[in-house]
Parts: sequence; C-alpha cells; structure tokens
Amino acid sequence: MENPVLLVTKIPDVIVDLRYSGNNNVCNEPISSYKNPFLPAGVLDQLKIAADEFRSEGFRIKVWDTMRTPETQEKLLKVNSDPRFVSSNSNHINGMAIDMTLVDESDKEIDMGTGFDEFTEESGDRAKNLTTSQLNNRKYIREIMGKAGFFQSEHEWWHFDYMGN
Ligand SMILES: [Zn+2]
Repeated sequence: MENPVLLVTKIPDVIVDLRYSGNNNVCNEPISSYKNPFLPAGVLDQLKIAADEFRSEGFRIKVWDTMRTPETQEKLLKVNSDPRFVSSNSNHINGMAIDMTLVDESDKEIDMGTGFDEFTEESGDRAKNLTTSQLNNRKYIREIMGKAGFFQSEHEWWHFDYMGN
C-alpha cells in the first residue's frame, strides 16, 4: 500500500474501535495486531471530505476496520466463508475499504438496524424489518460517503469500498 497515513492525522475527531484487535468480534479473540487504523493517503483525503460533511451535521465517524492483513482475512474466512460477507479478495487487504458507522453529539451510534459483522440479510439492501429511521440512516451514510467516492456494500451497510472519485 502506498503512503499509509493514520486516520487520526487527517480526521482528529475520528472514534477508533478496531474490533479485530480485541475480543469483541466474530472470532471472539484478537485477530489483528493493528492498534490504529490507516489508509492510503489519497483514500484518506477522500474520507476527510465525508468526515467534514458529517461533522457539519453533528456526526463523527467511528471506524471498526480499514487495512487488514491476509492473515486476518484468513481467520475471518474460517468463521464465515459466505462471499456476501467475507471475500478472499477483500479490498481491505489493499487498504481500499473501510468498515464504519456514525456517532451523534453524545457519542451514541446512530441506529442502522443491525450491528457490525452481523452476517444476516437484515444488514444489507434486502432487509425487510427495518424502520423508516433505520433505512434513512443507512441512506444518509451511503449518500455522503458516495459523494466522496466510497460505495456501500449491498450486503453490509458498514462496509465501503473506495472506487475513486
Ligand atoms: Zn468491510
């Protein structure tokens, strides 16, 4: 990956909760040694555009994962090999993807209907049991991230692939 830059250097108010570095993940044990998230410089510049817009409306980015090693990906594949959720050629490995949500001014995550790495249909576009507010929240994050060049996964509302702008 070219020019990896720590998120906090460009987005100082980012909330970091790297779930794969602790026990609170689908493997129930640390599967990554990263303590701070980073992205290629050009990708991070684009994420900053989205972060600035979210902030202007009272929200901050909370990041669960960015760059991932092939070893971490292997461990995830052992837990879930459904390609809708865990792919062997994930963009996380080359630093072109981010898993994230938004928190409001009281640091509370906004309601997206499901949690991170909840591998069910309800986490994607085919969800049937979401409230209008949950659908609007997913649409809100999708639209602002989309303007900055990041595209929301149809299966995981928290996963964004950087596709260029
Ligand atoms: Zn992801």
